[in-house]
Amino acid sequence: MNFNYYMPTKILFGPGKLGELIHEELPGTKALIVISAGNSMRKFGYLQRLQAILDEKGIGYVVFDKILPNPIKSHLMEGAALCREEQCDFVIGLGGGSSIDSAKSIAIMAKNPGDYWDYVGGGTGKGQPIPNGLLPVVAITTTAGTGTEADPWTVITNEATTEKIGFGNQSTFPTLSVVDPELMLSVPPKLTAYQGFDALFHSLEGYLAKIATPISDMYALRSIELINTYLPQCIAQGDDLKARTNVALANTYAGFVQTESSCTSEHSMEHALSAFYPELPHGAGLILLSEAYFSFFGTKIPERFRGLAQAMGVDVASISEKDLPRAFLDALQALKEKCGVADLKMSDWGIKQDEIPKLAENARVTMGGLFEMDRYSLSLDETIEIMGKAYR
Ligand SMILES: [Zn+2]
Repeated sequence: MNFNYYMPTKILFGPGKLGELIHEELPGTKALIVISAGNSMRKFGYLQRLQAILDEKGIGYVVFDKILPNPIKSHLMEGAALCREEQCDFVIGLGGGSSIDSAKSIAIMAKNPGDYWDYVGGGTGKGQPIPNGLLPVVAITTTAGTGTEADPWTVITNEATTEKIGFGNQSTFPTLSVVDPELMLSVPPKLTAYQGFDALFHSLEGYLAKIATPISDMYALRSIELINTYLPQCIAQGDDLKARTNVALANTYAGFVQTESSCTSEHSMEHALSAFYPELPHGAGLILLSEAYFSFFGTKIPERFRGLAQAMGVDVASISEKDLPRAFLDALQALKEKCGVADLKMSDWGIKQDEIPKLAENARVTMGGLFEMDRYSLSLDETIEIMGKAYR
């Protein structure tokens, strides 16, 4: 019963909220708009809608459209150089987590000298303090997955060293975030599933993490419940606005969970997989690891699985403590089946079994901090054991 609470982002949440941006005071006079290298922001007209709002407000902008699904350091350095050259005084991330995370990292490098990896902690990052602060960030999310609109984190891959590392501090929260579920109606079923499961794991891990607080527990359990109830419908019928809105809410709650609590070592293990195999979507990587990961922790901290099982719709009253993890895992498996992601295999993305020790080591070196968030401290052998069991 001892916690600090800090959540400085103003969030506009609900269907149609993008239109309300016109009435908001934006934190600058010229924006760098960061979008992905894909064409969806233009195809669905989201970029044009944002540009029309900025035009009407008399705010200038430049578009940077190179971001990959697993964003890389060279692109954010390029975006930051463009931001300086064009004298932009704030950054707008429009799109999924990769565009918004990149916007945050560009906002750091637009105002600071050297290389991004000078500031990143973990792996070969130098962990230096950021001397000049950063530009304000506006996040407009078109997916429900990373929760980055409601947390300070940004995840970037250093393609030269194959390190995918999450980074953030008190100043890397967005100033303003727009969560408009109408912008999510066009996300295809598979991506909807991967992103929804990413949000689910943020809440599951945030509940198991040893720094969980009463506030993060409240958000985590409600977010799990919403995803379990509404994600299958978002996949079956993508234009169901009620289902999309509930999963968007679950994702924003999961962002609060990551702000107040933390992900655990499952995320470190996944970052190793998708650092070496950038085609592997982050959410899919987590799905691959989940059965082995949560069964292991079920043997160590079964008492924490009561809340998780209940949030997944299990009637826990008649279940003994030692059986709670299995009941939770069965419910998780049922959700995977409903969402069409029960049969994913690491080998589908070309991952080889004999690479597991190397990947486990990468997880511990680059994202060691999250291993310290576990309630049970994993050894390297146990990390290899979990990742090996997850291999198919
Ligand atoms: Zn994640």
